[in-house]
Amino acid sequence: MVVARLRRSVAIVGGGVSGCSAAHRLATSGAVDVTLFDWGRAVGGRTSHRLRPEPAADGSDVSLQFDHGAQFFHVDDPTFGALVLPHAERWPTDASRLVLLDAAGGPPVPLAQRSDGAGGLFFGVGRTELAPVRYVARGGMGALVRGMLNAAYHSTDGLALRVYEGSRVASCERLPDGRWRLRGDGLGHEQSTADALAKSEGRLLGEFDELLVADHMAAAMPDWHPCCLRGLADATPRASAALRASLGWDEGVRRFSKIRPLFTCMVAFAREAGADCAVEAHDAPFDAAAIVGSDVLQWACAQRARPHGGARGARGAGEAEGDALRAHRWVLVSTAEFADKCLSGEGLSRAPARAAGAAGAEYVPQTDGYLRADPAAAMLCEFERILARSGARGEGAALAPAARTPLLVKCQRWGAAYCAPDPPGDGGAARAELAAALCEAEENMSVTLCGDYVSMLGLDGSAPDDAFAIQRAALSGIRAAERILARAAA
Ligand SMILES: Cc1cc2nc3c(=O)[nH]c(=O)nc-3n(C[C@H](O)[C@H](O)[C@H](O)COP(=O)(O)OP(=O)(O)OC[C@H]3O[C@@H](n4cnc5c(N)ncnc54)[C@H](O)[C@@H]3O)c2cc1C
Repeated sequence: MVVARLRRSVAIVGGGVSGCSAAHRLATSGAVDVTLFDWGRAVGGRTSHRLRPEPAADGSDVSLQFDHGAQFFHVDDPTFGALVLPHAERWPTDASRLVLLDAAGGPPVPLAQRSDGAGGLFFGVGRTELAPVRYVARGGMGALVRGMLNAAYHSTDGLALRVYEGSRVASCERLPDGRWRLRGDGLGHEQSTADALAKSEGRLLGEFDELLVADHMAAAMPDWHPCCLRGLADATPRASAALRASLGWDEGVRRFSKIRPLFTCMVAFAREAGADCAVEAHDAPFDAAAIVGSDVLQWACAQRARPHGGARGARGAGEAEGDALRAHRWVLVSTAEFADKCLSGEGLSRAPARAAGAAGAEYVPQTDGYLRADPAAAMLCEFERILARSGARGEGAALAPAARTPLLVKCQRWGAAYCAPDPPGDGGAARAELAAALCEAEENMSVTLCGDYVSMLGLDGSAPDDAFAIQRAALSGIRAAERILARAAA
């Protein structure tokens, strides 16, 4: 009798670009079975696309779409290009509509006309010498990873890949036979520590041969953070300690110093009869602007200029629902310094409210109450100020306050938006220890880590560069998948 050898199973915790790229590589190999869990309402992580139903004046709901995380990506690697370009479009189509705005004043300058490489601008946007073309996903940024997963699913007839969205992996346990038992729940984002801990023994999600953790928060946060994959630090203490040290964990403020926060602000202005001046005022003569000289903002992007139709199968459907009907949408991105300032007041966590002497802290969910109007109001006000100073609004655009009242102003806190690279020459010893510890965890425990931070910490041997953050996240997932496949074949 011939007994078929069962394929190895891989669980992926995290469905951002890195986790989904890994899932694609693993599933299309035909060599392993893949199950991906993501905590968010939908896969995408920081490349997410938000579709918000808002009440319209006639009582119906209007969908307002925003790319409120990553804004665009560069491609200079053929493997990454082959994975994502089928789901992407060059952006913006008219280069003159991507500009630099100086908060001190002066007209918008098309970035393409600058010859200084504009280093240091938002995710390398002005570095035309490095990456002259930018892309966005067709159908909103979340469509990037959905495209990868769909391609993998169809190429394997759906047999090798399962995806669970809205599914938090709360804990992992290494069984005597070396497999990983995962438990979790359907607890949504922005829950309290108490809720997260209460559910950490949640339902059984399955048992797997390999565990791929595609999120640094899941891998390295202490257990008061709802993201934390409990049990991992106990099973892989050396890797956990090295990762925390490399990311600059500071117990005093309960944050990683190298992981920088950002706030994004989604703004929509009504396009209704009688409110035309509001449209004019915000109908700036550019599609997106990198902003310099502002403590508050570093990026502003009109959503109407993005190819959002794909999610509904036709370019322009987003326009029809959002802009043409009634709303003119912008996404504003804060500076990391502004986000730091907001967080120093409100924090990601507060001191332990549990039993006296207990370790840990309480996670502060970003409820509407937490965000209040503060970050949003400051960001919108700064945008108005910069537009006015640049003359981008045109003459005579002073508005009655009522006409300027936005339909929606909503902030999103990205407590872990990107990983700041070490200054050249720094961090060598910590990097060597982390590389050795991760290698040990892979070989001895079948645990692999991936994510943009793996590359930004310089672990893949390349010079960290945030202009390629999304590409780096994807390549880190693909490389992690290849190491898993090599072990499966051994
Ligand atoms: C506002 C903003 C703007 C940006 N702009 C750009 C840009 O223009 N260009 C660029 O290249 N990069 C940009 N970036 C950075 C880029 O988005 C990231 O580098 C990249 O998306 C990281 O992908 P990742 O897979 O490593 O992590 P993530 O996208 O963070 O994915 C991790 C996933 O793990 C999930 N997860 C966490 N814990 C658990 C758990 N316990 N159980 C289940 N799931 C879990 C999370 O829900 C998340 O989906 C931006 C980031 C932000 C925040």
